[in-house]
Amino acid sequence: MGEKKFWADWTFPLISLVMFALLLAAMLSQMPSITVGSLISFSSGLLAYTMMLTVTFMGSRPRFLEKHFGMPQMFEVHGVMSVVLAFIILIHVIIQWNGFQSIAEMSLVSQTGWVAVIALLIVIYTGIFSLSEIFVQYNKTLNVYKNKHNRELNLWLHRLAIVSIIFVYFHLYALPFLSNNTIFMVLLNIFTIYVLGYWAIWKIKILTLPKYEVTKLYRGTPTIWVLEVTPVKGQIPQFHGGEYFWIYFRDGANISKEGHPFSTSSAITDRYSNSIEFMIKDAGDWTESLKNINVGDKLVLEGPHGDMLPPHIQETDEETVPFILLAGGIGLTPMLSILRQEHQRGSQREMHLVWGLSVEEDLFMLDELEEMKAANPNLHVHVIFSWDEVEGYAHGFITNEYLESVGAAPYHYGHFFVCGPGPMIDATKRIFDHGNVPYDHRHIDDFRF
Ligand SMILES: Cc1cc2nc3c(=O)[nH]c(=O)nc-3n(C[C@H](O)[C@H](O)[C@H](O)COP(=O)(O)OP(=O)(O)OC[C@H]3O[C@@H](n4cnc5c(N)ncnc54)[C@H](O)[C@@H]3O)c2cc1C
Repeated sequence: MGEKKFWADWTFPLISLVMFALLLAAMLSQMPSITVGSLISFSSGLLAYTMMLTVTFMGSRPRFLEKHFGMPQMFEVHGVMSVVLAFIILIHVIIQWNGFQSIAEMSLVSQTGWVAVIALLIVIYTGIFSLSEIFVQYNKTLNVYKNKHNRELNLWLHRLAIVSIIFVYFHLYALPFLSNNTIFMVLLNIFTIYVLGYWAIWKIKILTLPKYEVTKLYRGTPTIWVLEVTPVKGQIPQFHGGEYFWIYFRDGANISKEGHPFSTSSAITDRYSNSIEFMIKDAGDWTESLKNINVGDKLVLEGPHGDMLPPHIQETDEETVPFILLAGGIGLTPMLSILRQEHQRGSQREMHLVWGLSVEEDLFMLDELEEMKAANPNLHVHVIFSWDEVEGYAHGFITNEYLESVGAAPYHYGHFFVCGPGPMIDATKRIFDHGNVPYDHRHIDDFRF
């Protein structure tokens, strides 16, 4: 496993464990003795709480961590940790559970505990069956079930995580042996206030973000919208090719106000010096409602997020390090942004855009790609169709054999950038494993959260 992958997987569980170890040590330091049953019960409760704090913190999209690990990876860890913490909380509940009679005689401690657990179950249900892709993506029935949910409603219900945290806090506070333990309470307050404060500031920031207005919106293909937005006041923020923003429409625009993430297809260039372009494929309710949007409608952009092409990789030696951009369908967007950025810089690097499409009507942007090729003779564009047979183009999927046949397989020294649908990403990961592509040369943008 590469170092980056290791830290992406383990940083957040380790943060939870450190918080847990500190709280447990503070608790035990003031307890003369404890039974094994109570130790297991208190430990599982505390561990679950520190995991709840950590996953909530991750849900606030902390940019200073996300730029190192990537948001899809963080959301995967967020999902897995949430499910693990549900099992851990179960241990606590089973040990503390005192039969049905206890429900009738509930103390403040158990009342707050039950509210927290019920809220948490709703949060986990909405996460698994409506918001996240990771648990349902390989099962058709679950996928159909997921799509029956109203995503916006479930997103609201998912925010019960904050309610659950507040109730666990009071659940702990209601236990005299903990509320009288000063070190424990100081630590508990620091961890809880930091996470809830970070979440609240993030929410307030979204409300106060600078406004943009739609300056262009048209169909690039029958299923893709091209959206260009310009700040109402001031300049666009600095961002790198391959990064993405969350779009929130505002002020009466006829579309849901929920934020949706989209990679930029533009980069900061002469053409897009004060505007940002997105390419948006029809996928569901929100994307289809774009037909209701008009030029002049207002929105805000939260971001940039992502780390597709970090500056230290962009600066690697042009003569010896090729870039291979693998795009599946609308996965072209971050690649186009990287290509536009490289074109603006006058890069002469060897680059291969390998673009997998299903049907001929999805093919567009060819004129601009030709222009870029004319400016950089080391740029090669390979288009392959998996469904339609199109004259002059290859037919099939992006495979190791295909990459080798077009000269886009420098597995040991090239940097590989990938974006596309789930099965395509999984297939390219297998190609990288087969070719022993170093982990820090794999830059994968996953549209599945
Ligand atoms: C980092 C990132 C970059 C993306 N860039 C692009 C892009 O450049 N062009 C493009 O066409 N698509 C992009 N997407 C996908 C795009 O965000 C979804 O297609 C869109 O949000 C679907 O919303 P919907 O209501 O129309 O469809 P729905 O039917 O609600 O959902 C369709 C699929 O999109 C997922 N989705 C829906 N809403 C969200 C959300 N708020 N956050 C995350 N996933 C969601 C759902 O889980 C589902 O699998 C990107 C996704 C991510 C995570």
